[in-house]
Amino acid sequence: MKDFGFTLSPSSAVSLDKVDSRLWHKLLETSPDAAVCISCGSCSASCPAARWSGMSIRKVLLALQRGQSVAPMLSCCMLCGKCTMVCPRGINTRKLILALCRICEKP
Ligand code: SF4
Ligand code: SF4
Repeated sequence: MKDFGFTLSPSSAVSLDKVDSRLWHKLLETSPDAAVCISCGSCSASCPAARWSGMSIRKVLLALQRGQSVAPMLSCCMLCGKCTMVCPRGINTRKLILALCRICEKP
């Protein structure tokens, strides 16, 4: 293949008809407030683990809806609860993470 001095990023397109969203729907059964997230990013901005680990509730919720793995991000959470204090939608993100960890242990 000819080298043009740059590479194309893989497509980030997601076909919602094909994703496995079972974990997302399981989470909604125990934490229905996850559905009101507006992806504002306040949780990520306040997260002390975000800078060095990439942990982000916003990303976790989006990944779940896209059927992507979230376990590596969850393992970086220290359950400090800062994200819960800043969420403008009043989502109990700390409780949500705990519920998600339980679901991931017993899918
Ligand atoms: S702060 Fe709340 S509404 Fe904003 S992205 Fe995080 S969980 Fe969603
Ligand atoms: S509870 Fe977890 S995700 Fe939320 S701010 Fe603390 S380390 Fe970050």
